[in-house]
Amino acid sequence: MRLVILGPPGAGKGTQSQRLMREFHIPQLSTGDMLRAAVKTGSDVGRAAQGVMDAGGLVGDDIVVGCIRERLREPDARTGFIMDGFPRTIAQAVALDDLLGDERLRLTAVVELLVDEDLLLDRITKRADEAQRNGETPRADDNPEAMRKRLMAYRESTLALSNFYYNQNRLVTVDGMRDADRVTADILEALQ
Ligand code: AMP
Repeated sequence: MRLVILGPPGAGKGTQSQRLMREFHIPQLSTGDMLRAAVKTGSDVGRAAQGVMDAGGLVGDDIVVGCIRERLREPDARTGFIMDGFPRTIAQAVALDDLLGDERLRLTAVVELLVDEDLLLDRITKRADEAQRNGETPRADDNPEAMRKRLMAYRESTLALSNFYYNQNRLVTVDGMRDADRVTADILEALQ
């Protein structure tokens, strides 16, 4: 099972990816997590990405494609994966098709979570509050200003991927506004 999960920030991609990871025994490949880990270790990638990420912009295609290329070479990704937060641009989607094509592979399906914008802001605010309550540091980009930029980046660069995958007959759309269990059930049904 080779999946991509699409949707705006706060749509529940992370939550649903973790559930699909357990359901299908495939790793979750999150470029956001990879980049945050790189920022933490202070690597070249992390230094290049941090400012852009904190401001809610998109990190360069070369950097994220490089992260995914390396991650796909690891043994646990050979039998399948769920990509969360990648691709985010058409150029990244084309690069992903090329990377898989080199191995004569293709995506099984692309799941898009549909969520209204006002609910997204609400969810992100809740995520930051919850991190604070648990004594964790909230994500630097979980604030209204960065969120506005993240939504703008989504509209400008990522939304076009729905059509890209629809035209390739690989898109399934799911209502992401229902409760998390219902969304998972709907995704599993759509994938059958
Ligand atoms: P996420 O955890 O998926 O919300 O990603 C957090 C941030 O990491 C994004 O707002 C971007 O700044 C950066 N990022 C993650 N994945 C990508 C990607 N595929 N392309 C560009 N930037 C990305």
